[in-house]
Amino acid sequence: MECRYLGDTGINVSRMCFGALTIGPLQERLPLGEGAAVIRSALEHGVNFIDTAQMYGTYSYIRKALKGFGGQVVVASKSYAYTREDMAKALEEARREMDLDVVDIFMLHEQESIQTIRGHGEALDFLVEAKAKGLVRAVGLSTHRVSGVEAAIQVPEIQVVHPMVNFKGVGIQDGTIKDMLAVLDKAYRAGKGIYGMKPLGGGNLMHQFEEAFSFVLGLPQLASVALGMKSVAEVELNVQIFNGEKVSPQLMDKVRGLTRRLHIEDWCQQCGRCIERCHSGALTMAGGKVAVEKEKCVLCGYCGAVCAEFCIKII
Ligand code: SF4
Ligand code: SF4
Repeated sequence: MECRYLGDTGINVSRMCFGALTIGPLQERLPLGEGAAVIRSALEHGVNFIDTAQMYGTYSYIRKALKGFGGQVVVASKSYAYTREDMAKALEEARREMDLDVVDIFMLHEQESIQTIRGHGEALDFLVEAKAKGLVRAVGLSTHRVSGVEAAIQVPEIQVVHPMVNFKGVGIQDGTIKDMLAVLDKAYRAGKGIYGMKPLGGGNLMHQFEEAFSFVLGLPQLASVALGMKSVAEVELNVQIFNGEKVSPQLMDKVRGLTRRLHIEDWCQQCGRCIERCHSGALTMAGGKVAVEKEKCVLCGYCGAVCAEFCIKII
């Protein structure tokens, strides 16, 4: 699979990045061996880049997938930590649980603006020092907002940007895809390494599969694109697409049938925490129940992480 350098970081990544959110407790809850086998199959097909996060709960899958694999793999993780102490714990947890000496890329999770980056100033300082000590190779941020990318451009220590990018702009919280592309171009020219997330808008663009992939793969600003996958069939299909190979109709049929949706159980206590957590504005309280606006939901699973009643599932 083709690799590209992530901006000025010197880190060379495959165009397809394995997005580890999907296999874990916030989404598919695959058994450890099964989830690790899906990651391992991507690695064996030439994918050398894995994206995860402290909150995804998928470090154990990655550790198992990497065990005994001979090739070089780039791992990116992220944390919501604000303080130096919490970021130190987050990095230590990632190193320990994935059995890695160095986490290649460590990011501030879901940043919105220069103000939120300043709010995470201590955590950012810690990551910059960890980089100087060789514990991480590059520092970055992930964002669902145009203003998040704009902020990254202003902070030289942020070398990697992981933004929401898909041809309809699904999940971009403060603008259109045109706005996002304009700011990504500025970030690219400033030497930032960029890898996109949610090319299929969390499944909302599955019916426009070919168009969605050809859009992100045609963007020179994106070194790589993170994709959540939960089966070996999905890995094989996506590898064919990313390699520009003829797509197998059998694989396409298998994967097309795998559309997912957010499900809210009847025992919901209407506390509203999930509504507050959903920055996509996809959840509302209607008639004493939480309702999901499917077109706005990118299936990130973040709402499920705050539900103390375990009512939210992606099925
Ligand atoms: S967080 Fe859970 S219990 Fe609270 S409103 Fe949402 S689904 Fe219901
Ligand atoms: S409803 Fe939940 S899964 Fe959907 S975008 Fe909002 S936080 Fe993410």
